[in-house]
Amino acid sequence: MLLHIGIDDTDSPNGMCTTYLGALLYRELSRLAEPMDLPRLIRLNPNIPYKTRGNGAVSMTFEVEEGLIPEIKNAVLFYVNQLADFTHENTNPGVVFLEGAIPEELREFSLRALREHVTIEEAERVAGKVGAEYFKFKLGRGIIGALASIGYPLERFTYELLAYRERENWGRPRRVDSESVFMADRWSYPFTYDNVDPYKKTVLITPHGKDPVLAGIRGVDAGKVLQTFEMVRFEEPVAFHQLYKTNQNTDDHLTPKKIGELKLYDSAVVRGRVAKPYWERGRHVFFELEDETGRIRVAAFEPTKKFRNYVRKLLPGDEIIAAGGVKEHEGVLTLNLEKFYPVKLVPKVEYQKPKCPRCGGTMKSKGDYLKCKRCGYRMPKKLIPVEVPRGLERKIYEVPPDARKHLSRPLVLPGGEERILGLL
Ligand SMILES: [Zn+2]
Repeated sequence: MLLHIGIDDTDSPNGMCTTYLGALLYRELSRLAEPMDLPRLIRLNPNIPYKTRGNGAVSMTFEVEEGLIPEIKNAVLFYVNQLADFTHENTNPGVVFLEGAIPEELREFSLRALREHVTIEEAERVAGKVGAEYFKFKLGRGIIGALASIGYPLERFTYELLAYRERENWGRPRRVDSESVFMADRWSYPFTYDNVDPYKKTVLITPHGKDPVLAGIRGVDAGKVLQTFEMVRFEEPVAFHQLYKTNQNTDDHLTPKKIGELKLYDSAVVRGRVAKPYWERGRHVFFELEDETGRIRVAAFEPTKKFRNYVRKLLPGDEIIAAGGVKEHEGVLTLNLEKFYPVKLVPKVEYQKPKCPRCGGTMKSKGDYLKCKRCGYRMPKKLIPVEVPRGLERKIYEVPPDARKHLSRPLVLPGGEERILGLL
């Protein structure tokens, strides 16, 4: 009998992590039953405000002897009870069990949980319909992710290897030899990626919170991910590690929409025209995008750093494809830009002073006439329109790795551009 297990929302900023619980469970349950695949780390809608860090749920599937099912379910509930952080108000764990094949209705629910906002009640209704058994702890919001992670099709996937710390080190600074990370990255990039930030010369594999994760190594090739992990020299003990299959970096969350259809918490790709010149407030860059159905404010926030320079190059009338999450910012529905692609750019015209018709010298403005700096020739001030380069190419511009959403596909991976452009 196939038994699917989904867990979500066990973590908190104070020190737990659903992947840690999932990895422990996967090891433990693999002694009792046959795992059908690697455990799965499923990121859901990144725009939901009460999400835990990264909004990741974990699921796994085992072939289980029917008589052992109660023992396995008890083990799962025992671990969640022991390890979930019940003290944090935003931690509301959920556990879901499903036996047999994955019904189509559950797959559809999973994709909605990825792209939109779904409620606990909807999750309970779907669970009831497909015959899934669910356990809510506190508010039980975690059953949304737990159920969705079981039903998730995961047709596109990447890998993440997660290495965990010994408990006595939780909360202490993570110690890793950064030179070994740069070496491992040079060897395996782009089959693994996001190991380092080459511009800031910083290591990205180690998180900063109090959670048990020592490092995460992402890639598209499971073997290369494991070898990269072997090449990194950690300066503290690794308690254990687990390779996860994940929908991270697949762009699965992006759904093509019309601007008029955008709702709060949607993740979407839209195509439209820049409506007016960009403006800035508090180091954030804003512009408006419109299509035949409506208009939305688009933002490149301060943490996206240099990405904002490309946004500043956009002009009214430019046609672009824009991808991101819909949030409310200062009471206004705002598309939080993750990437954009210039489709059609308007010509940029600058008015320049002509050269001196007599000697070819440089003219200087003097009120409403021009005067040659070299020979003193004077003429009425008449400027010449000149088309200047836009400084934007026909390619996708994306936010830097540390501002990128877990689900967003980095451009270094194959297929990212085709997928975004193919959506519209
Ligand atoms: Zn002159």
